[in-house]
Amino acid sequence: MIYFDNAATTKISKDVLDSISPYLKEQYGNASTIYSLGRESREAIEEAREKVAKALNCNPKEIYFTNSGTESDNWAIKGVAFANKDKGEHIITSSIEHHAVLHTCKYLEKQGFEVTYLPVEKNGIVNIKKVKEAIREDTILISIMYANNEIGSIQPVEEIGKLAKKRKIYFHTDAVQAIGNIDIDLSKLDVDLLSLSGHKFNAPKGIGALYIKDGTKIDNLLHGGGQERGKRPSTENVPGIVGLGKAIEIATENIEEKREYLIKLREKSIKGIMEKIPDTILNGDPNKRLPGNVNVCFKYIEGESILLMLDQLGMCASSGSACTSGSLEPSHVLLAIGLDHETAHGSLRLSFSQDNTEEEVDYLLEVLPDIIKNLRKMSPLYNKRG
Ligand code: PLP
Repeated sequence: MIYFDNAATTKISKDVLDSISPYLKEQYGNASTIYSLGRESREAIEEAREKVAKALNCNPKEIYFTNSGTESDNWAIKGVAFANKDKGEHIITSSIEHHAVLHTCKYLEKQGFEVTYLPVEKNGIVNIKKVKEAIREDTILISIMYANNEIGSIQPVEEIGKLAKKRKIYFHTDAVQAIGNIDIDLSKLDVDLLSLSGHKFNAPKGIGALYIKDGTKIDNLLHGGGQERGKRPSTENVPGIVGLGKAIEIATENIEEKREYLIKLREKSIKGIMEKIPDTILNGDPNKRLPGNVNVCFKYIEGESILLMLDQLGMCASSGSACTSGSLEPSHVLLAIGLDHETAHGSLRLSFSQDNTEEEVDYLLEVLPDIIKNLRKMSPLYNKRG
């Protein structure tokens, strides 16, 4: 099997699995208990928290474990919105956010908040001038993702952070796709809240974290016991937390070397696809994009049919995002960068990891042109083209 869908999820690495294993077997203690079995779990959690903090260059006290990237996004946005309602009810986000952010904002609109959904440029990047123009007296939060999950575009997080700080507005960034791909140093960024998700960098599914800068006024999302200093109750997922700690440690070491390798795979794929397959559009910015992200649209055909053909040859890829596949609506991200519905339906996303090889890319480039040619032969749109 050839796996080109690492933006959807990743394989748990052997080192991560080995680190988790004892906490699934003999070290099952509840971290809130006082006997040694429980204390060992507590120590493991704190060690993982330190690893996450080290990877992001922040204080371990600013890291809170959650169950997912979705939960972190919900907590950051709802938590800040409700806690700061007295200061204002206006939120700024972008039109290409993950649904974990967009649908949370839609929910808040029903609760009386006002949300500005900023457009993006053709390359999928938010224009900083538009962010500036959108700020109002009553703006309490800006939530703009670090890097897009579909087209890989990297947002001007540093500039947005500076702007938000100057105007005393909280800034949240969904960094779910950025961790392990981009070197993030929170000591140099004016970010107040940052979401991450373990399964995007070789930890298990169902574990995430939220960075909350010390002093941030935020309500709880969940109410219950005293775990996570009372801010995120629920008995801790010790194996998940340990796995997340190990995974982020591995994902953030040698990041430059990994980046170069992924860019090599990405550029080889893009060059090969654009050269061999006519009527193809590259989505997203050619340079300011995640190192392992390729997103193209093949005109006149459906992305889903490409996926089925690739699957028959043992290859996993994606069309739109995994969360929207299964729906007939084309990706909101592709529409936001100005593609028409018909073109947006023909998208293919490849997302590489270090486990992928150049030989795998060669194989894809060998079979993909014929797949597209054959699908176009069957396409009424292709046969009717001008
Ligand atoms: N944000 C982004 C940018 C994502 O890509 C994803 C997952 O696809 C999420 C949030 C949601 O993360 P999780 O699957 O951990 O809920």
